[in-house]
Amino acid sequence: MSSKRILVSRCLLGDPVRYDGRSKALHHPLLEKWKIKGRLVPVCPELDGGLPVPRPAAEISGGDGEDVLDGAVHVVTEQGTDVTGAFLSGARRALETARAAGCAAALLKERSPSCGCRRIHDGTFGGGLREGRGVTAALLERNGIRTFCEDNIGALAAFLDDGKEENA
Ligand code: SF4
Repeated sequence: MSSKRILVSRCLLGDPVRYDGRSKALHHPLLEKWKIKGRLVPVCPELDGGLPVPRPAAEISGGDGEDVLDGAVHVVTEQGTDVTGAFLSGARRALETARAAGCAAALLKERSPSCGCRRIHDGTFGGGLREGRGVTAALLERNGIRTFCEDNIGALAAFLDDGKEENA
């Protein structure tokens, strides 16, 4: 029976921690089972990096989370404030939390400049998307923690080898 712990974006658990003061609660039986079994380790990298709720929307300008980690691009608000430092700090906190809790993988919120796993906003604040990871997802992946987003929760369960347990 698998009992690996899972780092999870707090907004997916219904916590109102998003930039607009809202949540993005994910209602899925797998998430409920993992919650009941005490396997979830909640984080919000943007809050943990020192940003408030609510806060100005921010996007990665001209790249993705990998580029931010490499120092090539920045995370900025629509008003032009550079919030890269807070995003990097929050990503490092998330990695520390994942390691301390022994998380094998993370379930993160797609399209976020912190948590996005496969797609993020394209930096124009026009609603467009581009392929790429957010800053936290990129740092986790670089350090061997696999990231999955809410539209791919079945793949996370398969990665964790939860099939027998979840059907029990
Ligand atoms: S930083 Fe991640 S956990 Fe926090 S609100 Fe954004 S997507 Fe959700």
